[in-house]
Amino acid sequence: MFDTLSGKLTSAIRNLSGRGRISETNVREAMEEVRRALLEADVHVDVVSEFCEKVVQDALGAQVTTSLKPGEEMIGIVNQRLIDFMGPVDSHVMLVDPGPTIIMMCGLQGSGKTTTCGKLAAYLKNRGKKVSLIAADLQRPAAVEQLQVIANDVNTNAKGVGEVTCYAEPEKCGEYGTATGVAVGVCKRGVKQARKDKVDVVILDTAGRLHIDEDLMKELRGVQNTTKPHQVYLVIDAMIGQDAVNAAGTFHEQLATDGIILTKFDSDTRGGAALSVKRVTGVPIKFIGTGEKFDAFEEFHPERIASRILGMGDVLSLVEKAQEEISEEDAMKLADKMASGKMTVTDFIKQLKSIRRMGPMKQLLGLLPGVGAALKNAQIDDKQFDRIEAIANSMTKKERDDISLLGKSRVKRIATGSGTNQQEVHRFVKQFQMMKKMSKQMAGGGMAEKMAAMQNAGGDFDPSMLGMGSRGSTKTQSHKKRFKQRKRR
Ligand code: GDP
Repeated sequence: MFDTLSGKLTSAIRNLSGRGRISETNVREAMEEVRRALLEADVHVDVVSEFCEKVVQDALGAQVTTSLKPGEEMIGIVNQRLIDFMGPVDSHVMLVDPGPTIIMMCGLQGSGKTTTCGKLAAYLKNRGKKVSLIAADLQRPAAVEQLQVIANDVNTNAKGVGEVTCYAEPEKCGEYGTATGVAVGVCKRGVKQARKDKVDVVILDTAGRLHIDEDLMKELRGVQNTTKPHQVYLVIDAMIGQDAVNAAGTFHEQLATDGIILTKFDSDTRGGAALSVKRVTGVPIKFIGTGEKFDAFEEFHPERIASRILGMGDVLSLVEKAQEEISEEDAMKLADKMASGKMTVTDFIKQLKSIRRMGPMKQLLGLLPGVGAALKNAQIDDKQFDRIEAIANSMTKKERDDISLLGKSRVKRIATGSGTNQQEVHRFVKQFQMMKKMSKQMAGGGMAEKMAAMQNAGGDFDPSMLGMGSRGSTKTQSHKKRFKQRKRR
């Protein structure tokens, strides 16, 4: 998401940074490029015009032309305007007391509605809530069964002390449409059951169609009038760009939606919907879906998204993900082991597993400032980590505790056992030892030693340190540049 937009936007603004002084014409020229980049990213045309005009006004008002660092000031201005256009938003779910809070989910077929019901349930389970999912999408043949499977999966595997159940009447599948009013009946009985079971939150998975039509809207209005939901959330597929914004407008007119959940944020979409939808419809994006699994779900924070767009990374989201996966106690223990040079392969694999649970590696690294753009064309194969885990699993406990035991015959055995080859095992051993040495140096020394350790390890981020091989394609631009500079010296 945002890769192309991010690159174009930052290069347009950075062109201003090289200059000592800039003129109003320079600002307007830069904004022409920004305008083109936004239009290409499928941002609504009215939003683009308003955005660019506001940025120019801000820039001239702030006297960017007389500033000594016009590029930096422009980034600040564009950042603030991006935040304004996407916000404000309160991404918490409003809950009523006494419950149950009723949340109605709606959206077009294929937008990710059923999947998102599961994600929202997992989010609430993690906050200790008892959730009931009601299967009222009787239109799409597999939707009821899909929701039952999702509810079971979330209840068993999602974090938190809450509970997730599913209310379904599978025999009613196919009986959709206003004439029958069957979906309304299912919702009514589901809510009644939820009250009996003292459920905190009820989530209604309603029907979608391929296109918005009157029949669909009537059915949804029927469900809304009968169950009186406290919140109506619209699920929209970010990949459909401008159409997403149009669909959001129509749903909002009919159902007075409270929030939008934008799915498929992990895809290669151009990002226009995220930037336009609040401005055009007035409905805030509350959450984003970033993958197919139930934990690929984040609260929407405009300031973090603006930061991602401007290539400044999103360290806060990364820290939050890390906090969910790695306990403070574990982190402290590991830090001690690293500082004393006692980190073992077992510690490393445990850590690697926690990181992998946070999401695909490329997505995670993209949250680091400056790394996202550098990784744009990099091929980071998450399967590579399976191979590393296989190598570690083929070692004996003694070997994992002391990797220096690995001689020729042990390496051969491990390569065969893990289905890899000796070269890969050697590479892992080398990288692990280097990492161990580096972490000891980093933790032990003062600032100067830390800088030296970073330099020794190859400067800034290098995916090969994580065992991603030495294919070169994953190295960052800055790494390559630094390497060249060193060679020249
Ligand atoms: P519904 O018809 O609206 O209920 O759609 P589904 O929930 O069945 O989702 C349609 C497809 O989109 C499924 O293959 C989902 O796995 C996929 N999907 C849903 N949300 C996301 C997301 O955030 N990212 C990605 N990559 N896929 C998603």
